[in-house]
Amino acid sequence: CGIVGILGSHEVAPLLVESLKRLEYRGYDSAGIATVDGGRLDRRRAVGKLVNLSDLLVHEPLAGKAGIGHTRWATHGAPSVRNAHPHRAGRVAVVHNGIIENFRELRAWLSERGLAHESDTDTETVALLADHYLSDGATPVEAAEMTLARLQGAYALLFLFEGEEDLMIAARKGSPLAIGHGDGEMYVGSDAIALASLTSRVTYLEEGDWAVVTRAGATIRDGAGRLANRAARTIQIDA
Ligand code: GLU
Repeated sequence: CGIVGILGSHEVAPLLVESLKRLEYRGYDSAGIATVDGGRLDRRRAVGKLVNLSDLLVHEPLAGKAGIGHTRWATHGAPSVRNAHPHRAGRVAVVHNGIIENFRELRAWLSERGLAHESDTDTETVALLADHYLSDGATPVEAAEMTLARLQGAYALLFLFEGEEDLMIAARKGSPLAIGHGDGEMYVGSDAIALASLTSRVTYLEEGDWAVVTRAGATIRDGAGRLANRAARTIQIDA
């Protein structure tokens, strides 16, 4: 339902929660964040209000300057910690808005290869696919591209990878995503409002676009894999 991502220069956990709060008005049943710290990918998830996630983070803090977050509005799988995002498979964590229509076929394809799901969601399939391609020798960018090529449905997706503290991959198909530009920092949000306290410089992904985001900037490609030039604009939102 709500997506945020930050490649920052400070600890991101509190910033991710703060940005998710700005998306609370959309409604949600659970929330979670994942970070990479010292190369290590880790996550925290909680059912109910964001304050439950904040409480959890007090007892089990999550360090790191790169991270992604999500507020979930369940479509596949009941609201629970197990079904909350970020979903993780091996070296990949994913947050997702929308529905992967062909997740049953993909799930079957993965299970034929001995790759089992831990949740009831359509989203976990995306993480499993990407990790499968990594295991086959693909780079994170290649793995994300190969995964996106297999997905049908409407989605906004954001990927984070173990061992990669300067990389997020964002994709938009049927569900909006905005990239935010900071000073040596980069952000992703399902809604520019989520980024309002971080930046006012925003690039909206167009339908079918996917972006490789690092602190140096974003490289955006269209659905056909061509480099796309999407203009950044300055937005006025009260922080
Ligand atoms: N289909 C996904 C799920 O049920 C994402 C739902 C959402 O947009 O929050 O977990």
